[in-house]
Amino acid sequence: MRYQDLSYWLSTLDDPLTPRPSLPADADADVVIVGAGYTGLWTAYYLARADPTLRITVLEQEIAGFGASGRNGGWCSALFPTSLTGLARRHGPDAAIAMQRAMQETVREVGRVVTAEGIDCDWAAGGTVVLARSDAQLGRARAAVDEARTFGFGPADLALLDAGEAAARCAAEGVRGGTYTPHCAAVHPAKLARGLARAVERLGVTIHERTPVRELSPGRVVTPTGVVRAPVVVRATEGYTPALPGQRRAVVPVYSLMVATEPLPEPTWARIGLAERETFSDHRHVIIYGQRTADGRLAFGGRGAPYHFGSRVRPGYDREPAVFAALRRTLGDLFPVLGPDVPLTHRWGGPLGVARDWSASVGLDRATGLAWAGGYVGDGVSTTNLAGRTLADLIRGVPSELTALPWVGHRSPRWEPEPVRWLAVNAGLRVMFSADAAETRTGRPSRRAALFGRFLGH
Ligand SMILES: Cc1cc2nc3c(=O)[nH]c(=O)nc-3n(C[C@H](O)[C@H](O)[C@H](O)COP(=O)(O)OP(=O)(O)OC[C@H]3O[C@@H](n4cnc5c(N)ncnc54)[C@H](O)[C@@H]3O)c2cc1C
Repeated sequence: MRYQDLSYWLSTLDDPLTPRPSLPADADADVVIVGAGYTGLWTAYYLARADPTLRITVLEQEIAGFGASGRNGGWCSALFPTSLTGLARRHGPDAAIAMQRAMQETVREVGRVVTAEGIDCDWAAGGTVVLARSDAQLGRARAAVDEARTFGFGPADLALLDAGEAAARCAAEGVRGGTYTPHCAAVHPAKLARGLARAVERLGVTIHERTPVRELSPGRVVTPTGVVRAPVVVRATEGYTPALPGQRRAVVPVYSLMVATEPLPEPTWARIGLAERETFSDHRHVIIYGQRTADGRLAFGGRGAPYHFGSRVRPGYDREPAVFAALRRTLGDLFPVLGPDVPLTHRWGGPLGVARDWSASVGLDRATGLAWAGGYVGDGVSTTNLAGRTLADLIRGVPSELTALPWVGHRSPRWEPEPVRWLAVNAGLRVMFSADAAETRTGRPSRRAALFGRFLGH
């Protein structure tokens, strides 16, 4: 496998992506971490910083940044998959507010560390603009702002934009308004993942690549080349988790796919905007997301790829020609200046993890020493950092503001067995697509989409 082919981001690194040595033989550690994406690496980072005497080993089946961390849209945002209202319903309003503030702080923390560690990842703290292009989308923009105000978040956290203000940031076709939050930075995700791997090695952490973990149990993980024994075992495998024994129904791997244009000329950017490299989206149901890259491309992605029976993850699923074609059409619809002629130079995708109740979680079972974090539903670029800091506190047994946050120790229900899971997830996708199409036609919000959202519990 040529790792460079996995994403535009991995293809542009000044890094040969030569795998680090595999685990050579049985070993002992204080903490063994399975998975070298952001979750595993941030956990190793904060543990090693807090206690340099800890022996920390990270085991990765391919290379650091192989998973979603090396392929994503590069929104380092304060988005959390459970809404403020959903968190308040379960844990009370104060906990919901604390979670949101912690996410905002996390964006700043990632910015602080990349500077401190010299990780050059094209960081641009330009915020996020989410456009509204129909009455239904305008309604959702207003509802998002109303919800923020209910919990005490003012315009400095989330502002409602009129048509002119929204278009001044991102001049998509037919913009009627939108929302803007400063709590987001655009990053080059693979530079972040690979830079973080080097940073943790500088702190004395051992990373073994091309070392697939076949079995994970209290006190030990088993790989083809050896067993690592450690009192704490951290599962940081996100969308790949269902392949581990006993974890088939823990999360479903949902594929998000992306495309990138060639570098666009300045006059084109003058028409589109995104002058501060704001990340952008709109208020449709089937999520789309984009960023203006540091080298002047539009990197643009969306959900909507099918869920594969049995929660299977396969390299071939990263590429769905129909989804790429739909993304290209959507780009042209948003930005007619891109017309049909601007070519796409890169197409890729990858799996992310979604828990049955749409809740991300982090935790450590003290009785077994098994720790986990994941289920970020596509909001993991920053949330993994919060997870890493939280796991470091939990593992060292240090109670903190972080360990009191409502997602800590949360246990999501398991997904339904097949074929119900396959039917439900793919039916849900169809509902959301048809809701977007109906809203484009009528301008009115779709009741079916709202009902389905409630069925999913968010
Ligand atoms: C196309 C795409 C776009 C996205 N866009 C955004 C975005 O803009 N903003 C945002 O916040 N989030 C986004 N996400 C989600 C975000 O990338 C993830 O939430 C985040 O990277 C999760 O990090 P992780 O370390 O938990 O998982 P991953 O990065 O997936 O890492 C898991 C690692 O575990 C390894 N592994 C799995 N099983 C084993 C095993 N048995 N043995 C050893 N190693 C194993 C994998 O190889 C992998 O390297 C996107 C995701 C995708 C796919």
